[in-house]
Amino acid sequence: MDFELTKEQSMFRDMAKEFGLREVLPSTRERDREERFPHEIMKKMAAQGLMGIKIPREYGGLGLDWLTFGLVMEQISYFDFSVGLSFLTQTTLQAMPILTHGDDRQKEKYVPAIVKGEKAGCHAAVEPNAGSDATAIETRAVRDGEQWIINGNKTWITNATLADFAIVLVQTDKEKGTKGITTFIIDRDTPGFSTVKIKNKLGIRSTDTGQLFFRDCRIPDSNRLGQVGMGMRVALGAIEHTRFGIAISAVGVLQACIDACVKYCQERSQFGKPIGNFQLIQERIAEMVVDCEAGRGLAYRLAYLKDKGVPHSRETAITKYFCTEAAVRAARTAVELHGAYGYTDDFPVERYYRDMISPLIFGGTSNIQKLTIGSFATGIKAFAS
Ligand SMILES: Cc1cc2nc3c(=O)[nH]c(=O)nc-3n(C[C@H](O)[C@H](O)[C@H](O)COP(=O)(O)OP(=O)(O)OC[C@H]3O[C@@H](n4cnc5c(N)ncnc54)[C@H](O)[C@@H]3O)c2cc1C
Repeated sequence: MDFELTKEQSMFRDMAKEFGLREVLPSTRERDREERFPHEIMKKMAAQGLMGIKIPREYGGLGLDWLTFGLVMEQISYFDFSVGLSFLTQTTLQAMPILTHGDDRQKEKYVPAIVKGEKAGCHAAVEPNAGSDATAIETRAVRDGEQWIINGNKTWITNATLADFAIVLVQTDKEKGTKGITTFIIDRDTPGFSTVKIKNKLGIRSTDTGQLFFRDCRIPDSNRLGQVGMGMRVALGAIEHTRFGIAISAVGVLQACIDACVKYCQERSQFGKPIGNFQLIQERIAEMVVDCEAGRGLAYRLAYLKDKGVPHSRETAITKYFCTEAAVRAARTAVELHGAYGYTDDFPVERYYRDMISPLIFGGTSNIQKLTIGSFATGIKAFAS
C-alpha cells in the first residue's frame, strides 16, 4: 500500500477543504439551528463535479477512485457532518445501487441527473418494526400483470422529504425470507406515495430525515431494481459503501475536535496559564490525536481495498466501528475541554457531540458492526444477514 497521495488526490482534497471553508462553514450554525437542508451547497458541489467523483464518465462523472471520494468526504465533514452525509448518500445509497444493479434505462434516467444535482433520491430499508433486522420488513409488493402494487411504511430515511425518487426494499415473497426481498425505484409523483419530515433530531439537524408511506402505489415492473428476491444484495452493497463514507467523515469531525481544542487550550487561561499547559489536558488531546491517526489509517486502508476490488466486509465493519466510536469520544472530550463555553453553540464542539451520536446508529449500529467483526473472528454468525 502506497501512503503517498497522487497529485490528483491532493488536488481534490485541497479543493474540498477550500470549498468547505468558503461554502459550508459560514452557514453551518444557522442551518443547524433552523434544521435547514443545504440545497445551495449541494448544487455548488454538483457544479464543481464533486457529485460525480465515483460515477463513470459515460454517465457524466469523473470515474475516480474511492480514496479521492473519501478525501473529499473527510474535508467536507470537517466543516459540517450534515453536509458530508447529504453528499455521501447521493453517491453510495442512490447512484451506486443503480449503477450496479440497474438496467440501461434506469442508469440513463437517474445517474446523470444525480451528478448534475438535478435529482436527489433516498434509500429506504428501515421500518417502524424492522431496524437492525432488515429482513423483518413488512412493506410488501404484490404483482398484478406487468405492474406491482406496493403498501407499507418506511421510517428514519435520509432525504425522505426532498427525494425525487426512492429506492425501496419490499417483501415480494415472505416465505422465502431474505430471498423474498426485492428493490424498486418509486418516483415521487407516483399516486399513493407520500412523505413526512422527522423534526427535532438530536444532531445532523440540517440533514433531511423522514417517513415514507405507500398506499396502493402502482409501479411498472420496469421500476424493479435488480432481480426479484435480490433486494438484500442491492442493499448490502450500498450500505458497505455508505459505512466507508460514514467512517471517513467521522475522521473529519475528529480532526475538527482536535483543532478546536488545540486552539482553545492555547487561548483559555486558568491558574495563571493557558490550560494547554496542564498535563491532564495534554493527555486528553494526545488520546484524540492517536484515535484520529488510527481512524484515518483504517479509513484510507479501506479505500485502498475498495479500489483494489478485494472483499472488505470485515474491514468495513472494523473501520466504521472504530472511527465512529473514536469520533464520539473526541467530541465529548472537546466539549469538556471547552468547559461551560463548550455547552453552547458559540463554539462548534457541542454540534460535533450531537452530530457524532448519529453514526453510532445509522449504517448499522455499533453493536451490529461488533457482531460482524465477531462473526469473522469466530466463524459463528451471531445474527442473520
Ligand atoms: C439520522 C438517521 C438517518 C437514517 N437514515 C436511514 C436511511 O437513509 N435509510 C434507512 O433505511 N435507514 C436509515 N436510518 C435507520 C437506521 O439504519 C436504523 O436506525 C438502524 O439500523 C438501527 O435500527 P433501529 O433504530 O430500529 O434500532 P434497533 O434495531 O431496534 O436497535 C435498538 C438497539 O438494540 C441493539 N440491537 C439490535 N439487534 C441486536 C443484536 N442482534 N445484538 C445486539 N444488539 C442489538 C442495537 O444495536 C441498538 O442499540 C437512519 C437513522 C437515523 C438515526
